[in-house]
This record gives sequence, structure tokens and C-alpha cells, in this order.
Amino acid sequence: MDVLTTLQRLAPAADLDQDAAPTGCPHPQGPRLPVHWAAVGGRRVPILKALLTSACERDCAYCPFRAGRDVRRVTFRPAELARAVLALYRGGAIRGVLLSSGIAGGSVATQDRLLTTARLLRGQGFDGYLHLKLMPGAEKDQVLDAMRWADRVSVNLEAPGARFLRRLAPRKWFWRELLQPLQWAATLRRTHDPRALGRRRWPSLVTQFVVGAAGERDRDLLTQTARLLQELGLSRVYFSAFRPIPDTPLAGHPAEDPARARRLYQAFFLLRDYGFTVDELPWTAEGQLPRQDPKVAWAERHLRAAPVELNTAPRALLLRVPGIGPRRAARLLQARREARLRDWRQLTALGLPVTRLAPYVLLDGRRPPQQLALFAARPEPQVPAS
Ligand code: SF4
Repeated sequence: MDVLTTLQRLAPAADLDQDAAPTGCPHPQGPRLPVHWAAVGGRRVPILKALLTSACERDCAYCPFRAGRDVRRVTFRPAELARAVLALYRGGAIRGVLLSSGIAGGSVATQDRLLTTARLLRGQGFDGYLHLKLMPGAEKDQVLDAMRWADRVSVNLEAPGARFLRRLAPRKWFWRELLQPLQWAATLRRTHDPRALGRRRWPSLVTQFVVGAAGERDRDLLTQTARLLQELGLSRVYFSAFRPIPDTPLAGHPAEDPARARRLYQAFFLLRDYGFTVDELPWTAEGQLPRQDPKVAWAERHLRAAPVELNTAPRALLLRVPGIGPRRAARLLQARREARLRDWRQLTALGLPVTRLAPYVLLDGRRPPQQLALFAARPEPQVPAS
């Protein structure tokens, strides 16, 4: 079996890591590869998701590769996988790779094989994007070595704490095996100059949670997320809505609604980029996010009756208005430094979605005027939630 066909067999593994939606990528030579598109340096580029092996000695309850499951296993040697990745990279089919693995022969030996693959890639001129997984229980020196080669390193925490993890992965240890390697990487980033290892910058750190299979509340997930952002400087947390896999202990557990993961992402950005704290999020009594955009839910509770004056509100308050994100806030601040804003048409000219923010703001002391209806008829630029 050629190596491209082997890689193709690993395509289901793409679903295990959800830092972008996986898509089958047609390679010019035939097979569809486990490739997803990810934002790298401001551009979306194709990234190969490659497992060194789909064999695993652990038994995570949600995983198609758990030990004992009747599924065909595929294993590469590091040199073999490095060769295949290089061929795809040089042929222009991919711009980067996410290297991961099932655990075979222990975490440390598995991590060593991943590091060997990374070293071979870099040694043979691979200068594309490299996302390297840290295995549960990776050692400190291995974390350091991963930081030498990768653009991004990650450990999937899977659950927001030990008691939840026990339900998903009874043979993974939350603190010792999962959080510890992330802490070592974070400490290294804080205390050492990357140039000492010949790097311009340290790799970013990310993690992933499985959502909806361990009885965790949104508040549990986002409280842990806030800690990871503040204490370990993670750049991103991914939320993967649980989907049951046949012939696993969670096969009968209902799939999680992907809308829940979307709301968690919206709340994540409020924590990371908009100055919200966990306590400020618009929780229900059960510790869940409401079934609407959490920023809109917060504004309905706090701004509908006390709208923000766009001419005087500080940046932090502007960012709380639905429809105003960091870039629009910057444009607004610049414009009002030059002249007082009096007319809603000035906001439209700045690219602000007037109809969206109107319920929560004042302009020059006035509520949205009747002529707002004129602007409501105009199409507004389509932008991501902000
Ligand atoms: S460690 Fe768990 S999640 Fe990872 S491959 Fe093995 S069984 Fe799957």
C-alpha cells in the first residue's frame, strides 16, 4: 500500500481534532487526504492531519481508536511519515501538518517518535506550519524539544477537570498527564528567550474540550478556559461537540448540539478579546449559556435600559455593544477624536452595523431616530459575530 493511500486511511482521525472543520482534500494523485483549512499568518491554508499510528493502548470512551475496538490500525515509521508529508508539501498539496498519534508502547516512546518525525521534517527543509501534539504524560525535556520544532503545540484536556475526565477517559490523569505538559510549555514561554533555541517566537499553545459527554456545564468549561487563558497564556481553546462512535462505551450517549459549541466559541472570544470575566457572562440558573449569542444576551440585560453614548464611552464599554468588535471600536475612537458624531450616517460610513447596535447605544444623547428605518433598508456588510 503506498503512503498516500495509508494517509487516506487515517482520514477519520481528522475528526478527533477540531481546531478546524476537517475536509477531504483531493490530492492530484488520487486519494482524498485528511486535510483541513486553517488560518496561519492571516491566510487560510491546507493542513494535513497525520497520525503516526491509529493503534492505541488507552481506552478513552469517545474515541474510535480506543484499545480493543475492532478497527483496522495503520502505523508509520517516523521517516516514512516525514517523507510523505514532505512530498505533499513540495507538491503544493499542503502548507502544513498536524502531527499526532495513538499511544503505543507508552506515552514517552510515542512522543519520541513524534519528535523524531518533526526533527526529520525540519532537517529536510520543511518550513511549513507544524502543529505538534504533546502526548498525555510527555516529559519535560520532550516538551522543550517540541517547542524547538513546532509553530503550535497542544494537549487535548478533553474535560474541564479531573472528575469530568474520569467519565471520558478513565486512564488519563488530568493534572499529572495533561495539564502538567501545558504548564511546562507555558513556563518556558514566560521565562526563556526563544532565540536561545534559534526561534523568532515560541509556538502558540492550544487545547480542546469534548463538549456534552461528561455532564459538564458551560460554566465548568469556561471557568477552566479563563484559567488557561490567564495563567498559561493559551491562544485558543477548541470545543468539539460530542458525537457517539459505534462500539464504544458512549455509543448510546446522545450527540451534542453543535450550536452549543458555537455559543462556547462566542463566549470564549468574549473572555479572550472583549474583556469579559466568567462571572459577567449571562448565565442561566443551571450554569449554562442562554440559547442566543452571549454578547447579545449580556447587552439585553445591561445595555437595553442603559444605552452607551458612542461619543464618550471608553473602548472597554464600546466592545460590549453587539456589532462592535476591536476593529470597529478602533475606527469609532479615531473618528470621534476628529469630530463629534451626530448623525447615524457617520456610523454607516465607518462600517458599523447600525441596526444591530441601535438598541444598545445613544448617539449625541439621542436614541436611534425614526430615520433609522431608512438605514435599515440598506444592506450592511456581512461580518463575523463581534
Ligand atoms: S489516547 Fe485516547 S483519545 Fe488518544 S488515540 Fe488513544 S484512545 Fe483515542
